[in-house]
Amino acid sequence: MYQPDTQPDAQTAAQSRDLVAENEALRARMSYVMEQARRNHEIMSRHQAFDLEIVGASTFTELVGTIFRMLPIISELDTVTLSLVDPDADIYTVMYKLGVDFEALPDLLFCEHAVCLGFESYEGERLRPRLGPYTRAEHHASFPHPPTGLQSVALVPLLRNKRLIGSLNLGSTDIQRFTRALGTDFVEHMASIIAICLENVISNEMLKYMGLTDALTGVYNRRYIDRRLVEEVARARRQDYCISVMFIDVDHFKSVNDRVGHQAGDDVLREVAARIKMELRVSDALARFGGEEFVVLLIDADLAAAAMVAERIRAGVVGKPFDLAGGQGMNVSVSIGVSALDDAACELPIEVVAQQLVALADGALYQAKEAGRNRVVRAE
Ligand code: GH3
Ligand code: MG
Ligand code: MG
Repeated sequence: MYQPDTQPDAQTAAQSRDLVAENEALRARMSYVMEQARRNHEIMSRHQAFDLEIVGASTFTELVGTIFRMLPIISELDTVTLSLVDPDADIYTVMYKLGVDFEALPDLLFCEHAVCLGFESYEGERLRPRLGPYTRAEHHASFPHPPTGLQSVALVPLLRNKRLIGSLNLGSTDIQRFTRALGTDFVEHMASIIAICLENVISNEMLKYMGLTDALTGVYNRRYIDRRLVEEVARARRQDYCISVMFIDVDHFKSVNDRVGHQAGDDVLREVAARIKMELRVSDALARFGGEEFVVLLIDADLAAAAMVAERIRAGVVGKPFDLAGGQGMNVSVSIGVSALDDAACELPIEVVAQQLVALADGALYQAKEAGRNRVVRAE
């Protein structure tokens, strides 16, 4: 229809107002999208830094410590705990022996069976994270010390080759943070990286542990004690205290083997190690040096003190017959040579002093054997 050419100015003005409004709306939308993009980029950078940090962690303590320190901050969470499946407490035991301070890691939890983690598995389907409101009854095992006001949680399975090795447990005081409807790709991705890092670090620590311990008796091996001795000689010199060494050898062990067999002979060695250990302090170190020989390193003990401990060990071994499989009892004795760090050796290199300490104890052991066995001799 023909539109009379009246009030052309008013029409143009209206059109231009619409354009301005549209423009403003677009700008606002644009700046919202930009802000979102900036935020997402920031979150991604933080997570990338986190990934780098955990991939670079070389020990169990470093890895777990990094997760507990960084994850609450980068993911804006109020609590993070980690549950590990550890059926025979192997992980716990090895980490403990390697010196992991579990008291400093109260959010690290162990469970005996994978089913304890409560992830339901349907035929052929992979395990899914469990997201939703926090309830004490349902989540007590995953959050034994929940922060006040904990409202929503995400329990994310840690999987390696479809095997459930643990659970990463995230908690927030915001009820909207983890809802059942929320997508889980992001937390699952994060959990998969954490699972790989955990598996790596745990198997590395296990290897380290095996390289330092004796498979038969569970005490340290020769490699460990050789290294430790050098460290301890250096420290004893710096801090000016005394250390001592014991060389322990089972008497007539060849005939023990001959009488009860090699297998039962192994049991005797395990029991000897256990009886020696009973007399030691936690700061002392016991190693199987080879065959039926053990070496003990005593920290802050002079020759007289070490000889007293050696005497207790000797009496502890010979004092009670060893119960062997098949109900047979057997009397076993040990001979012990003892040596202590000599002030006169302070000019010599540390390695030489460490070797001398062992050689002196070995010499004293030889004298104990010569003198009739089942006795303690000091290297004067
Ligand atoms: P003594 O020290 O009193 O002089 O006599 P011994 O019979 O103990 O001396 P020797 O050092 O000659 O013998 C040590 C024996 O220990 C020889 C070896 O068969 C045995 N032996 C070494 N390692 C093991 C082991 O791992 N298990 C068992 N069952 N026996 C071992
Ligand atoms: Mg021997
Ligand atoms: Mg012997």
